[in-house]
Amino acid sequence: LSEKLERAFKTLKGQGHITEINVAETLKDVRKALLDADVSYKVAKSFTDTVKEKALGQQVLTAVSPGQLMVKIVHDELAALMGAEQAEINLKGAPAVILIAGLQGSGKTTFSAKLANYLKTKKNRKVLLVAGDVYRPAAIEQLKVLGEQIGVKVFTIDEDKNPVNIARKAIAHAKEFDINTVIIDTAGRLAIDEQMMNEIAAVKQAVNPHETLFVVDSMTGQDAVNTAKAFNDRLDYDGVVLTKLDGDTRGGAALTIRSVVDKPVKFVGLGEKMDAIDVFYPSRMADRILGMGDIVSLVERAQEQFDEVEARKLQQKLAKDQFNFNDFVSQIKQIKKMGNVKDLLGMIPGMGKALKDVDIDDDAFKGIEAIIGSMTPFERENPSVLNGSRRKRIAMGSGVEIAEVNRLIKQFEDTRKMMKLVSGGGGKNALNAMRN
Ligand code: GDP
Ligand code: MG
Repeated sequence: LSEKLERAFKTLKGQGHITEINVAETLKDVRKALLDADVSYKVAKSFTDTVKEKALGQQVLTAVSPGQLMVKIVHDELAALMGAEQAEINLKGAPAVILIAGLQGSGKTTFSAKLANYLKTKKNRKVLLVAGDVYRPAAIEQLKVLGEQIGVKVFTIDEDKNPVNIARKAIAHAKEFDINTVIIDTAGRLAIDEQMMNEIAAVKQAVNPHETLFVVDSMTGQDAVNTAKAFNDRLDYDGVVLTKLDGDTRGGAALTIRSVVDKPVKFVGLGEKMDAIDVFYPSRMADRILGMGDIVSLVERAQEQFDEVEARKLQQKLAKDQFNFNDFVSQIKQIKKMGNVKDLLGMIPGMGKALKDVDIDDDAFKGIEAIIGSMTPFERENPSVLNGSRRKRIAMGSGVEIAEVNRLIKQFEDTRKMMKLVSGGGGKNALNAMRN
């Protein structure tokens, strides 16, 4: 999905703002990319409609290209589609009871152990794992092995085949031994099945869990969404766990589930190891789906800090090659406001490489401002007149060696080149840089 979206954004070239015409093609590609990722037509259509509405007429700052701004708009909409806010699990309860449901093979047992490990190590909880998959001895053995690996006790009753009894006894056991968190793993079937639903619903009713999590294999795409709906209709669960995201290159389930069942995704599984679990952050998932470096935060910071009017004037100057030392000083002021320069440039994919010879660090600005202060207004506006004797005078005036003045002038030229690359007028160049 991310490759297709990236291609879609590349069709937006360096215009000053996003227009109906140049956005139409991009949105068509975005919609196609979503459909290919197994996002339903309805969701894809309403998604691109919203993006179009937000994108049209947006002024593009000099610091970013229309393509980059579009990435940001799409990113924010993707995050909104997935729920915008991160959703916590409810651990209030003594003990807090978490019920795990889902189809066989979705990753319930693995996730139960991962969650136990996460709550134990990150949240300092005392956890009991409950082996509620009574039909397969191997499933109980699997949970025991995982529990041992992470140092969490696993509750089993060999002679009892009733999951409701087991769950009740496990909670009583937790109370007795001051365990504040109980995670109940359950049995699944290969497909939706009445008996399975009845059983899990009975457990839910009997123990009244504080949190019911539905586990689903994200690689199953639209099927995952259908299963999520069937389980929700029956169980009215509190949150979704998307497993095997490490193998999911399309991202369709992650994008669609929220809008279909209106329940937040709370965790993701990213591998078979016990630490391959992550809290689900819609914004980070959108980053992952777009896979375009950190353009989004670059655009955010640029939008916060850049004075739009100044920026547009500057763009015109850059286009006419009239960028001078006065602009240089005001740019330094802007850049200082934006924080560490290298950090900022490093956010643009491919840019780190393109700029490795350009030496810019914050300390260097102090000397620069002194040297520019010793230039005449005419020299500042016309850098090309800075010949040897003028450089010598400037060096004397600012109390530095001529070499430093020369270095600054070279740095000025480099910066001019770099700014041309980063600025809107150079959007195409920036995209070329990204491609490398
Ligand atoms: P259950 O039947 O729902 O309990 O599923 P299991 O927990 O037994 O998992 C089924 C298979 O999926 C096992 O081989 C797991 O190792 C694997 N698995 C579970 N979660 C993940 C994940 O996040 N990533 C990957 N790559 N494999 C996973
Ligand atoms: Mg299992």
